Amino acid sequence: MLSSSRSFFLLAGQRRRSFHFQDSLNLLPRLRFKNTNNGSISSQLSTSTKSTVETTQRRSIPKDGITLSHFIHKKQGDDNPIAEHFDTEDIGEIPMPASLEENYLQQPQPQKFHLRTYGCQMNVSDSDIVRSILLSSDMEETSEEMDADVILTNTCAIRENAEQKIWQRLRELRAHDRKNPLFSTDRDGLLNRKRRIIGVLGCMAERLKEEMFRDGTADLVVGPDAYRDLPRLIQMLAQQPVERAVNVQLSLEETYADVKPVRRPVTGGVDVSAFVSIMRGCNNMCSYCVVPFTRGRERSREFTSIVEEVRQLVENDQIKEVVLLGQNVNSYHDKSKEAQESNPAATYQLSNDGFTNMFRLRGGAGYYFADLVAAVSDISPELRVRFTSPHPKDYPSELLQLMAERPNVCKQLHMPAQSGSSTVLKRMRRGYTREAYLELINRVQSTIPDVAFSSDFITGFCDETEEEHQETLSLMKLVQYDMAFMFAYSMRGKTHAHRNMQDNIPQDVKMARLSQIIDTFRTTIQEKNERTELGELRLVLVEGASRKGDHQLNGRTDQNKRILFDNVDCLSELPSSSTEKSCTVALKPGNYAVVQVTEVRGHTLKGRALCRTTLQEFHERKNKMDFIKLIHN
Ligand code: SAM
Ligand code: SF4
Repeated sequence: MLSSSRSFFLLAGQRRRSFHFQDSLNLLPRLRFKNTNNGSISSQLSTSTKSTVETTQRRSIPKDGITLSHFIHKKQGDDNPIAEHFDTEDIGEIPMPASLEENYLQQPQPQKFHLRTYGCQMNVSDSDIVRSILLSSDMEETSEEMDADVILTNTCAIRENAEQKIWQRLRELRAHDRKNPLFSTDRDGLLNRKRRIIGVLGCMAERLKEEMFRDGTADLVVGPDAYRDLPRLIQMLAQQPVERAVNVQLSLEETYADVKPVRRPVTGGVDVSAFVSIMRGCNNMCSYCVVPFTRGRERSREFTSIVEEVRQLVENDQIKEVVLLGQNVNSYHDKSKEAQESNPAATYQLSNDGFTNMFRLRGGAGYYFADLVAAVSDISPELRVRFTSPHPKDYPSELLQLMAERPNVCKQLHMPAQSGSSTVLKRMRRGYTREAYLELINRVQSTIPDVAFSSDFITGFCDETEEEHQETLSLMKLVQYDMAFMFAYSMRGKTHAHRNMQDNIPQDVKMARLSQIIDTFRTTIQEKNERTELGELRLVLVEGASRKGDHQLNGRTDQNKRILFDNVDCLSELPSSSTEKSCTVALKPGNYAVVQVTEVRGHTLKGRALCRTTLQEFHERKNKMDFIKLIHN
């Protein structure tokens, strides 16, 4: 699954910081590291990932330095235009070292790692991959930062403020590391300061590369496609005379399909829901977005490996809900040889005529997103299927029809509009107009009654006028979104907007517009939920205790609305009439329950649990259930 060759850098500085710490702590200093190169040394190693043998060899480096495009391997005959967009900053010339082996000194192996995740669900899912890779290399996870030999932070680069939080964390970690050094005892009983490695993973690592080493905050920088190299880079940092290691190579093929994610329950209890990554990268090149540069080109994981992972989650872990994950999840296309042979007649379809695909090369045999949703929902009629994050261009009628017909495919769609103005959408390079988007919304509503919509919005994009902003407010009022994620525009390096437009909306105007869209969302959702939810019977998947404690449970409706209800016994099964006697039962995480909505608090609901049920039973009888309201009145 990996590209045939990989490159990474090891950078060694003048002296290891640990010397200073030992000195300042007045401990017996033991020279653990001899740097024969007085001054700065840096090296580039090249290695084959197909074997574990590492080779040190010279590579020719262009006079004008190395850019990201040197790490993106083009397949022969692949004239995909996206690679040309990766016009990253140069990272400069990298001289070779004298000899790394000369400097080799045995260090204790790092054993414990601590992993913290920032950003989107893709990052949470990537952290599950990282955890799996490290655990299978004989490391163990610790929840205590200062107990760890290796502290990893999985990062987000989508907006400037996300990156500022990471810088702050790295500075704090370095300061804590100074105050709480790690020690190991050697064979002679001497206490030695052990190096604690601070590593940065994910999108910010990919975006900033060696810049992440600024002010000595990080020792290790690894991009989203290079996690398989983590164990080796960690061992090298511990054992070799190098101060820093970086691998930010992007891949055309890496999907980590064969790595079984090791998930950690979100609540500390039992998770009833699991995220399953089905594709990586994005080819869309929206003009504001850094994702195609930090996560590389779009590639889909093999159909069979996804279906097998979900089957195991259902059978072994009693998972009741899967969320299929990807940056543009509904553009999924498994075009492996096996997929093409199994599904030779398949072809790609856009949502409808008003949408264009920024990425021209689509189509051909194989498995598409609707095939995958069908196969996953076939695994169990009691398994809820959701997906995120989709793009509005990839909603062919086949997919909408499937959602309408299958009771276990949830009736909730993320339809990230970003703006309600066609002129802004054009500058954003979204590939649709306001009119096409609204037509799609109407088509979905007529195909899937009771559907809920969520959306992302960016406010204050380059040149956004007051009139254009008002169009976003009017779109929000028209669609009446059930959930919205709203952001002030943050200019990102390397994007089309960064190269061609000006971030010319003053921050105070951006923030004022942001608070207007937030207010609009709040007002419309309160009105909508009061109108459509109050008194309704909803099928709720119980997730566990609410934040307020065990006396209150928390769950989600089919439409993905959070609902809170008292943790009191309810009927153990659906009675067939209002006079039938039935036992009562306490609900548990993973149960489905019929919950009546009693109160609306914006996008969150409050209710009372009437009865335990199953997904199938609820759908078979949902139109004939009003009598259970009677039982409880
Ligand atoms: N692929 C998804 C899509 O097309 O909707 C979105 C993925 S992106 C990680 C999540 C959201 O972040 C986007 O939908 C957009 O609203 C927001 N976003 C992306 N770039 C941004 C930027 N430069 N400034 C502010 N918000 C941004
Ligand atoms: Fe970014 Fe657009 Fe891709 Fe979403 S579809 S990740 S907004 S480039």
